[in-house]
Amino acid sequence: MSTNPKNPAAPADNAPAANFLRNLIDADVASGKYADRKDNLGRPLPPIITRFPPEPNGYLHIGHAKSICLNFGMARDFGGRCNMRFDDTNPTKEEQEYVDTILDSVKWLGFDWKDDTGEHLYFASDYFDKLYEMAEYLITAGHAYVDSQSAEDMAKNRGSFGEPGKNSPFRDRPAEESLDLFRRMKAGEFRDGEHILRAKIDMASPNMNMRDPAIYRIRHAHHHRTGDKWCIYPMYDYAHPIEDAIEQVSHSFCTLEFMDHRPFYDWVLERLAEGGFFQRPLPEQTEFARLNLTYAVTSKRKLRQLIDENIIDGWDDPRNSTIVGLRRRGYTPESIRLFCERAGVAKSDSWIDMGTLEGALRDDLDDKAARAIAVLRPLKLIIDNFPENLSDDCSAPVHPHHPERGQRSFPITRELWIEEEDFMETPSKGYFRLFPGNKVRLKYGYVVECTGCDKDDNGKVIAVHCSYFADSKSGTDGANNYKVKGTIHWVSAQHSLEAEVRLYDRLFTDPNPDAGGKDFKQVLNPNSKEVITAYLEHGMRAALPDDKFQFERHGYFVADRVDSTPGNPVFNRAVTLKDSWQAK
Ligand code: ATP
Ligand code: MG
Repeated sequence: MSTNPKNPAAPADNAPAANFLRNLIDADVASGKYADRKDNLGRPLPPIITRFPPEPNGYLHIGHAKSICLNFGMARDFGGRCNMRFDDTNPTKEEQEYVDTILDSVKWLGFDWKDDTGEHLYFASDYFDKLYEMAEYLITAGHAYVDSQSAEDMAKNRGSFGEPGKNSPFRDRPAEESLDLFRRMKAGEFRDGEHILRAKIDMASPNMNMRDPAIYRIRHAHHHRTGDKWCIYPMYDYAHPIEDAIEQVSHSFCTLEFMDHRPFYDWVLERLAEGGFFQRPLPEQTEFARLNLTYAVTSKRKLRQLIDENIIDGWDDPRNSTIVGLRRRGYTPESIRLFCERAGVAKSDSWIDMGTLEGALRDDLDDKAARAIAVLRPLKLIIDNFPENLSDDCSAPVHPHHPERGQRSFPITRELWIEEEDFMETPSKGYFRLFPGNKVRLKYGYVVECTGCDKDDNGKVIAVHCSYFADSKSGTDGANNYKVKGTIHWVSAQHSLEAEVRLYDRLFTDPNPDAGGKDFKQVLNPNSKEVITAYLEHGMRAALPDDKFQFERHGYFVADRVDSTPGNPVFNRAVTLKDSWQAK
């Protein structure tokens, strides 16, 4: 494995790291397990087929990005295909809005579901007829029955860990009777919960998921795609393997909590293969560890709570761990893919440090982002010997390592904005910036010597005075005659752009805000968003939404894609230049 020079522990950006799922596919490809398969039109199938199967009940978050990069990434690396599939079997929580944003996020991350046989975008709800037909088959073949116990009895008879369950009194009802009831369930003759269709497996199985799990339940609910056509809906554990098999998925990757569901996944497919519904080889489920990110929550339910309680400003709040939030914060698709690659694929649950995500963004933007000057905590600097009406152009490279990207220019004038922290009336030890009698270089401009300051009635410094040396301009011969220890940045008070800047930071102060059932709302970072008015290099007027910059000394910033207007960009801090959380 080659390594990344910036971070030897991480794989090189172009070389995928080995992991157990990649090894598994390697072995399957080598053994020809899924070779020579044909689709139902007789066309050859790609060597592997994966799928990304979100439920359209919320916005995607960084954990989903992991699954997307894994499923689409493996398909790409092995010349296979990844199907985009909405697992929309649960009628009440799903909406078109979520379908749209999910598709948008997957595309934005750089993936798509097209290949030379067309678009592979599927909806589980399109399989409702097939799922129903297969359920009838299972009843007829003696593998499923309609149970008419009350919900309480069913729960009671399920047993518990270490204690076997009890057979339902309806378990051995004749198949014809179950079939008749099932058809009447479908016809709408019963109320929710009156009957349920269950697989007939083993009520004494040590695996609770094999104790005659439910297959279909009555739910008089409107579905966002099928409307009121159905009043019975398949259970996830029954539908999922069938969806995979219909789509001829070879590798079905899911998170670890589904490990105990795998025997039922296999049971469903084996029974239906016996019934002639599916050809072998059947899809195989393999589990990997969920991505948990420190200082973040990655659960749609908890994200929704943050929004409902107005703790953040919506799904796309730049502090949110949603894809739309990260995008608005200034994350690039490349940085998120790099992060997912560096996070790796594990077999047991672990936490990945937020610093890894932020580091991936820095590594991506360092090379891409144009440089600009921004004064975030402004203090007036007056160059008393600078001519009142003079405006003298200074220039700086757009990017220090890419001269081919050209130069930017900005004027220096008599009155400037500098950072408050770049002046100290009484300097502390080792302070080399402005203090009375000291010289500093105004970056890309002149050397100035501090002559004093003005204060308000409370003793607060409101302006700093200096004088400049006309022969000291950066880039001229005279510049070398001045040796100074400090360099500070500045913008012209007259020409700079006044702009709203939002300084975002981590949303939580606890690295594991929701671990072990903790209340994540108790560990909110009160300083996760600070809105300031800053003065920017005048060229920033032309910044377009989503444009990213490194504000020198401050970090990476993006022109907000929602609130910026032409000529008036609003900036979000995506990430600081260095990780200030490391030592905490
Ligand atoms: P949530 O708990 O946030 O609702 P989910 O797992 O219910 O998430 P789905 O829409 O069902 O969300 O997930 C779609 C796919 O994304 C699934 O294959 C799921 O395993 C995967 N996924 C979801 N969260 C993570 C995560 N944190 N890490 C890796 N994969 C994830
Ligand atoms: Mg879910």
